[in-house]
Amino acid sequence: MKRSVILTLLFSVIAANAYAGYCVSGKRGLKTSAMINRYLSDLADNSSGFAVVGSVGTTGGSGTEKGKKIKAILITENASWNKDSGKPTVIITGAIHGNEWATPEVCLGIAEYLLENKDNADPARDDKGLLINGGAGQGMKTTAESPIVPRITSIKQLLKTIQVIIIPVFNPEGYDYSHTQEGKQSYYGAGWRPNRVDQMALMPEERCYREDGTLYEKPPTDAEHCFLADYDDTASDGDLEEESVIVCESVDRKSISLFAPELSVASAEMFDAVYSSTDPSRVVCVSGERRVWKEQWSADDDTIDLAGALQEGYLQKAYGVDLNRNFQYKWDVVDGQKHLFIRTRSPSSRMYRGNGVISEQETHAMEKLVAERNVVALIDYHAGSTQVLYPYAYSTRARVEKNILGGKSDYDVFRRVSEKIASLLNRHGGKDTSIIGYTAAQNYNETSVGSGVARDCYYETEGIAAINIEVHDRRYTYEEAEYMKVVPEICKTNVPGAIWFLFWAADLGNRAPD
Ligand SMILES: [Zn+2]
Repeated sequence: MKRSVILTLLFSVIAANAYAGYCVSGKRGLKTSAMINRYLSDLADNSSGFAVVGSVGTTGGSGTEKGKKIKAILITENASWNKDSGKPTVIITGAIHGNEWATPEVCLGIAEYLLENKDNADPARDDKGLLINGGAGQGMKTTAESPIVPRITSIKQLLKTIQVIIIPVFNPEGYDYSHTQEGKQSYYGAGWRPNRVDQMALMPEERCYREDGTLYEKPPTDAEHCFLADYDDTASDGDLEEESVIVCESVDRKSISLFAPELSVASAEMFDAVYSSTDPSRVVCVSGERRVWKEQWSADDDTIDLAGALQEGYLQKAYGVDLNRNFQYKWDVVDGQKHLFIRTRSPSSRMYRGNGVISEQETHAMEKLVAERNVVALIDYHAGSTQVLYPYAYSTRARVEKNILGGKSDYDVFRRVSEKIASLLNRHGGKDTSIIGYTAAQNYNETSVGSGVARDCYYETEGIAAINIEVHDRRYTYEEAEYMKVVPEICKTNVPGAIWFLFWAADLGNRAPD
């Protein structure tokens, strides 16, 4: 009896020491991308050769501001950027959307956990002492329906087998801007999501679309040009309601009017309504400018003089591309995405897809990184729900069809791996109800689709087992005190799921190249 008590005590002490040191960064409060980069360097400096920091690219910059370096930490035994060992590689990215502030901390937590346990040959455990790869080594007979159980259980063995490249802030421009007062307030207080590239310079002229989604060679001169716009009622103590109305510019370009203000822009009906109008006829157009309708203009039959509106700030510069709509696979989808058409093609929208596939330096950097390395799997962290998402994002009906992930079908593997991760995250069971109840799904909130999404592209063009993990339900940015309280909890919940995924991904390294 005494012996078991001693052993229990001893185990608690070891467990406390071994796992005291992850998800500590979040407790230090809000931080800029530069602060995160310094922290990465500190981690690498104290890693005994298990980690190195490098830049994987530079952002495009904003206006006169120079671009920012996109920093990554590479973690493996004998870590090096120059001598790629050819080891199977897993990439983990955070803050592809600038406002998703918990995601860089989850990335840092994973790095902290790996480095804390780099010499630990025992089966990996979470901060509650639970085994992360619990089913391993039990000699179960494997069938198509039995749980997926990775071979590796310890971090020491993991870091001999694979290398992990962690990019906590993939979109440093958008992330840092979302920490400014203006950036934090944008999109109804959800915060700034895209990068910060000036779109005015890239699209100085209007582009107009036909109803089938194809581009007019020249904007038609016999139709009203209708644009996605913001609605500014700040003069009467309201908000700036972004992307909430459509504004049409008259055929003679002398006046502007609100189009069907009772309709929601999010609806496919709006798209159809624009094209079904005949007197005058109307078309959907976009340009590198943001259009802002002022509430006080609404008095005069909703039609006002364009010259006067211009003087009152109707046209402003548009900034930013949603990097998670800029990847090459299914970038130009129209079918089933009518409700997103105006948004994804409008430079003023938070969901703007960019001026072409891989037009952004961030997406280009990622394409280069995956082309250079033997990347087998990837996690892209997001916020806004508690879900583990797998390809395809572009459709709710189309299913992945390859069979390269070592199971019955890739769709089946993705589903089961995502369900396993969700169950590990739920096992952690935080007290905060906004960070429990993780589910696995193909589409965000089961229904939402998006074109040019990173996970679809990584899987389809590079055969990478790419998933998204959404870490916080309906939340993006935080006040400092809440951040210090809830973000470490989000991190603690998510790290075990990521570690299990790394164990699983290590087995993908054995598959035959496709
Ligand atoms: Zn996101």
